[in-house]
Amino acid sequence: MYVFKLKTLIIAAAAAITVLLLLTLGICRFAAPHSKAVSGFSETGSDEYVELPILMYHSLTKNPSKVNAYVINVSDFENDLKFLRDNGYTAVFISEVIDYVDGSGDLPDKPVAITFDDGFVNNYDYGLSLLEKYDMKCTVSIVGSYTEKFSSLTDDNPEYAYADYETVKNMADSGRYEIASHSYDMHSLPDKSNPGARKGASKNSGESDEDYRRILTEDTQKNRQLLEENCGITPVVYTYPYGAISKSSMPILKELGYRASLSCLEDTNHISRGNTDGLFCLSRYLRDNKRSAAALLQK
Ligand SMILES: [Zn+2]
Repeated sequence: MYVFKLKTLIIAAAAAITVLLLLTLGICRFAAPHSKAVSGFSETGSDEYVELPILMYHSLTKNPSKVNAYVINVSDFENDLKFLRDNGYTAVFISEVIDYVDGSGDLPDKPVAITFDDGFVNNYDYGLSLLEKYDMKCTVSIVGSYTEKFSSLTDDNPEYAYADYETVKNMADSGRYEIASHSYDMHSLPDKSNPGARKGASKNSGESDEDYRRILTEDTQKNRQLLEENCGITPVVYTYPYGAISKSSMPILKELGYRASLSCLEDTNHISRGNTDGLFCLSRYLRDNKRSAAALLQK
């Protein structure tokens, strides 16, 4: 009897292991589309989503000694574009993501959004030929006061200058650049000389809702008005300066016609049709001088 029981146990254990193995294989196959795929379904199959990683760049340089977290070598940018192309990624504008959510457009199999913050002229001077070479596109978030200032100067050194309105228009006209708002003049942080200064476009503590609404509205409208007058561009994407998000800002930006906003939280976005609120505070990976697109997207 004992032997019989032992045999039974062995057979039962073997059967259990086989079932577990089969289940594991099945689950792995089922889970595979979620890991790095293009689009996936939840277990109920009801909520389809598209995975959208967004890369965040700032400035490009040809001088290796100037490289830091916000300035990377042009050659590194090219390596990123090569990696994206060779791994089947297709760059999309945020406006295409909006169209997908609205149901008026589709997204490619492996979409990625390339974003540049602050509006450096090198995004165009160094970037255009590479975007063309690898058939990519990007979203540039301009700070209105910087662009306005450099529109009145003759300094267009690609190593540090900001794009003027003429360049911003050329960017958009090339079809490779989408222009987003990075505020008119809220691209600042509190510092020693002004510890009470606002952090980006966020609401100050103790500030009334009315005051915040008025200040954010005036600044945001000014940037849009200048873009419309000088370039014929009406931005619908708002990029929070320094990633400083205020909950109170979302309804205000929506009322002003913005359809999406970009944060600095690091994650991959799940984009679903009809989920218009999901377009706000989209996460982005900071592409600094240490982490390549390959490292950021393969983790
Ligand atoms: Zn910025």
